[in-house]
Amino acid sequence: MIIPKTREQIELIRESAQIVSKTLGMLATEIKPGVTTLHLDQLAETFIRDHGAVPGFLGLYDFPNSLCMSPNAQVVHGIPNDKPLEEGEIISIDCGALKNGYYGDHAYTFPVGKVSEEVEKLLTITKESLYIGMREFKAGNRVGDVGYAIQKYTEDHGYGVVRELVGHGLGAKMHESPEMPNYGRRGRGKKFVEGMVVAIEPMINLGTKRIKQLSDGWTILTADNKPSAHFEHDVALIDGKPELLSTFSYIYEALGIESKEEDEFREKTL
Ligand code: MG
Ligand code: MG
Repeated sequence: MIIPKTREQIELIRESAQIVSKTLGMLATEIKPGVTTLHLDQLAETFIRDHGAVPGFLGLYDFPNSLCMSPNAQVVHGIPNDKPLEEGEIISIDCGALKNGYYGDHAYTFPVGKVSEEVEKLLTITKESLYIGMREFKAGNRVGDVGYAIQKYTEDHGYGVVRELVGHGLGAKMHESPEMPNYGRRGRGKKFVEGMVVAIEPMINLGTKRIKQLSDGWTILTADNKPSAHFEHDVALIDGKPELLSTFSYIYEALGIESKEEDEFREKTL
C-alpha cells in the first residue's frame, strides 16, 4: 500500500535526505587512489551522527556498515573493506540516514581519478537516465512510465538494466510500497498519488543485465564482471510534479562542477 505523506512529513524526509546529500559531498574530496572504503565508511558514520541522525543502513536487515560501497563490477550492497581504491576505478556509494523517524536514501557513483571514456559515458548516461525517469514521476502517470523511460534510454545506449533490484517508496521505513523498477511498460503498474515519496535508482551495467551474488550474502555484481553504475535521488510528488528532496549539489560544490541538472525539480526548494 502506498502511504502518501503530509507536507510536514515530506519536510522531515527532506531533512534526512539532505544529511545524506551532505555526507556524499563530504566524501567527494576524500575519494582518491589509496583510500579504503572502510575509511570512507567510518568518516560517513561520524558525519551522519554529528548531524543528529543515525546511519540508515547500519543494522538494517543486519547490514554491517553505514555505507554500501560497490566498486567497479559490483552493482550494489558491497561491504566496505580495507582494500585501497585504485586510479581508474569507480565506486558506487549508497548512503542512508534516519532522523526524526524518517529516512533519506540516495547514491552516487564516483570516478577514482581518471576513468576510461567508456566508463565515463556509463556514468553520464546512468545519471541522465535518473532525471529522465524522474520527469515521468508526475500526476496521472504510473510506475511503469518511470521504468520504461529509464530502460529505453539506457538500453538505446546498449547497456544492461538490472531487473532483480529496484527503487522504492520511502518514509518511516527505508523500503515502502511501491517498488520502482528501472524497466517497465508505459501505463502499467501502480498509479502515482499526491504526497508520495520514492527513491528512484537506476542500476545500469556496461554489459549484460545479469547479476550474481557473492558468498557474503550481500554483494551484488555483474555476471560478466563489467562495470555497473548507480545513481539515486529521493523525490516527492507535490502539486502533481516531482520535487527533489535530495541533491548532488554538495558533491558538485566540493569538486568544482557546474550543473543545472536539478533545477527543473526544485521549484520549492531551499
Ligand atoms: Mg540507496
Ligand atoms: Mg534506495
